Amino acid sequence: MKRRDFVTGLGGAAAVAGCAPETRQPSTPAQSQQRFSWDLVTTWPPNFPGLGTGVNTLARYIGELSNGRLEINVYAAGELIPAFEVFDAVSRGTTEMGHGAAYYWRGKTEAAQFFCTIPFGMNAHEMNGWLYYGGGMALWREVYEPFDLVPIPAGNTGVQTGGWFNKRIDSMDDLRGLRIRMPGMGGEALKIAGATPVSLPGSEIFTALQTGAIDAAEWVGPYNDIAMGLHQAARYYYYPGWHEPGPTLECIINRQAWEQLPEDLQAIVSVACQAVNLDMISEFMARNAGGLSQLEADPSVEVLSFPPDVLAGLKAATLQVIEELAAADPVVARVWNSYKTFLDESEAWQRISEQAYVATRG
Ligand code: CA
Repeated sequence: MKRRDFVTGLGGAAAVAGCAPETRQPSTPAQSQQRFSWDLVTTWPPNFPGLGTGVNTLARYIGELSNGRLEINVYAAGELIPAFEVFDAVSRGTTEMGHGAAYYWRGKTEAAQFFCTIPFGMNAHEMNGWLYYGGGMALWREVYEPFDLVPIPAGNTGVQTGGWFNKRIDSMDDLRGLRIRMPGMGGEALKIAGATPVSLPGSEIFTALQTGAIDAAEWVGPYNDIAMGLHQAARYYYYPGWHEPGPTLECIINRQAWEQLPEDLQAIVSVACQAVNLDMISEFMARNAGGLSQLEADPSVEVLSFPPDVLAGLKAATLQVIEELAAADPVVARVWNSYKTFLDESEAWQRISEQAYVATRG
């Protein structure tokens, strides 16, 4: 395909991604030759497998597709900005672009976490359906607008694992008093269960778990957890990742920077994000499976399912958290209403499609 045809095709795809500008004006020749160099700060450790490398891929796609007109310089957590200051840095325009997870920003707006993941919520397929075709993107843009941020989905790990524990969890009582690294709403549900949720960036988890500063930690899944060495810091590896059934990762762009981009570069950024959204989950699918084989063969690790009554207790706690948030914040109520409507319909469909198929396959 000629470059021109490809770029023309991107316009439609960008509209699907929900990121095309409302008013379409042809770029002037001067604009189309203008070059941009943007800084992208991430919440991930440097070159971290899947997450950090996924961002490197995003930067490479944008550079290649734009023929170098938009250069993206990637900075891992702490290189330019600490992990948990990415939202503020991009909001202020200190850097043009960021990559992270929206649930890290619930201190800014509680509604943010619905665009990443919520416990017992949607899986990756469902998140993509809701965001791209179910009204989710319009809500996300609206929620980030007061912060001068343009959000674009850019990655997903798929369903995660429940985390690494230094003691067995046989009942809800066993969660009491534990210090557990878990961000977002899952942490709030743990609080109701009597545990103490701790929010730590990825780079600090291993040491905290190994030294006993925390009793348990969730990170992602076998692929990433092994890379972090978490299997050497705790014995019991629990599933499923009730708290993160399919977290969408985000690319955030400072609004002024976004508006300065010619339309074709905006389309390239949008479609590069869509490409990474697919790349990342494909990589996790392949490498988590290999990682699990390694863990199952490791005599110092036990892979265990949370007992059903623990999962039921955590689900009830999650609903309590959501209801309290929705009662206190009309933005959360609106986002939850859209999310829940989509989830209810999807559940009925999933029951006779993916779920029924996987059960049949055995
Ligand atoms: Ca996680």
